[in-house]
Amino acid sequence: MPLSKGVALLAAAPLFAAGPTPAKAPDRLVMVVDRDDDDADKIADRDDGKVPAGPGLLVIKDRPKGRDPAMWIAPDTDNVRLVADGVPIAKGAAISPLTKVLALQARRPGVYTINLFGQSRTVSAFEIRAFDNANREVDFATSHASFERLPPSRTDVPPQSTDALRFMILGASEDIPTTFTFVTTTEAGILMDALQDVPVLETPCPADVSSTLTCGITEPIRVVSDDIDRWHPLTKHRSVKAALGGGILLQTAEGVRLQTLRVGGPRVTDVGAIERFRATLRMILVRPRPGGPPPLGRDETSALTAARAEVERAGLLWSACGIGFGSAQDLNVTIVDPPRSHLLAVGCDHGLPASGGTLHIRVEGSDVTVKVAANTSPLAAARALASAVNAVGFTAKVSENAPMNAGASGAVDVLVRKRDGALAQIEPPATGPISTDATLTACIGRVDLTDGLTHFGDTDAFAGTVEERTLLKAFDDFDPSTVEVLFVPGFAQGGRIGESFIMSDRSAIFNAVIEDRAAIRSDRAAFALAHELGHVLLDEPGHPDDFGPDTPTRLMDSDAANPTAFGPRRITVEECARAMRQTGPKAPVVILKPWPFKPIVLP
Ligand SMILES: [Zn+2]
Repeated sequence: MPLSKGVALLAAAPLFAAGPTPAKAPDRLVMVVDRDDDDADKIADRDDGKVPAGPGLLVIKDRPKGRDPAMWIAPDTDNVRLVADGVPIAKGAAISPLTKVLALQARRPGVYTINLFGQSRTVSAFEIRAFDNANREVDFATSHASFERLPPSRTDVPPQSTDALRFMILGASEDIPTTFTFVTTTEAGILMDALQDVPVLETPCPADVSSTLTCGITEPIRVVSDDIDRWHPLTKHRSVKAALGGGILLQTAEGVRLQTLRVGGPRVTDVGAIERFRATLRMILVRPRPGGPPPLGRDETSALTAARAEVERAGLLWSACGIGFGSAQDLNVTIVDPPRSHLLAVGCDHGLPASGGTLHIRVEGSDVTVKVAANTSPLAAARALASAVNAVGFTAKVSENAPMNAGASGAVDVLVRKRDGALAQIEPPATGPISTDATLTACIGRVDLTDGLTHFGDTDAFAGTVEERTLLKAFDDFDPSTVEVLFVPGFAQGGRIGESFIMSDRSAIFNAVIEDRAAIRSDRAAFALAHELGHVLLDEPGHPDDFGPDTPTRLMDSDAANPTAFGPRRITVEECARAMRQTGPKAPVVILKPWPFKPIVLP
């Protein structure tokens, strides 16, 4: 949108002029220096060789009828340039009469007289810059705004603040706005929020700015991801809700668009600036019994809606690290029956070697028997059993587990499917035990969610219980770069509402999270999933308060429950950097993949 409409509006609202509004020549053009990056190519539009349409361009409508070549010449200056159908024209070069859209673009702040089509015009260009708390400039093209990670504070800028930004304007005093309006939009151009009429107060200009110009600056603006932070009374006058990958549009009070700043992750971390990364989640909603109701919601539709909303809420908190889970609509979510008993745990939990005996099971009614010699390991016994299962027409897969703290080597699971890929049913023999061996035990995994999922305790945390393994291994895609998120109706004992299986546990199951209905109902609704995903993304089983001081505002705090802005919802810059190191693009198993900014569709 051209600024031409804004010329009169801006001129009517002088910023620092003490006297009456100076009369303006009708050909005075007030423009913003085009420092943003509307095509997301990391080159400021004012320096770009291919200039996208955007608020920084002022379209010239009054071209002369004649084609006198002496008139069709670009202005002889680098401070303002002409752009013909998106391509800049060098100063003093000819303008093609075939140009469809001819626009002016300001490149440096100041007041300039240019000659265009034989007419003298005045261009007054003002510039907008952004600065963080340490007075580092945040470039509109190569950097971005980040989400506030500190709770609301009475102090304007807490010393440790690295996110809030002040916006500076520099230009001719009679042409620059006295207030900014911040309008935010998603990447797709859906309007999100507006922070109106933020005062721009006079401030000394930076050293590189001409002494003829005046400078003004806003107070620090907090970019936040949800309404809890947006409307906190301490900071609502300087907070605006935005979306990861979306934009903050700076406008005049009259709605004239000026420049757009992107919203991404933290700018200053041990691993450098974090722009935007994406983790792929697979949501699996497990019914309590085959054909039963979904584990949350009243029906399937409301279950899917609730699951998507939960992921969306988790994404809002993780956007503080520049991490997203994609749009809720694109989310991979299915509602499934609990799995059949397709898993045999050789060694059950403890994984002791054999003393000599026989393993005997039935797979879909077929008897399978293997003899186990003394000192055979659970792994060797599982392999022998898997071969025997394959021989009677099924597909068996051997899956090792991390040893439990007290276990000798760890149980080894045999997972059995039919040839068509469906889970096969394992049952005990018609008579006699599954294992006749005195030390090598074997257990059939059964998932019974009607009495709650039996979850791991301190000793079997690494491996998960046999029931958990039966559940998770049934739905695992064995792609470690995706995170499985299972919703179950409930856990067997009270207290537990979510748990995670992470890489450093060296288990066959990792990068998975289980949550129950209580998690969604509780006060922790806004962060139960975000917290469990935190264990996975940080590859960290512990909590900061296990070792250090209790910080109940941190997402990874173990026991905080508080639905306000002071609840457990903050992620530190150090944690963002750790997520990049542990599960980012250079990690052994990559969960967080780069998700580059795209051009914003302007509403
Ligand atoms: Zn935890």
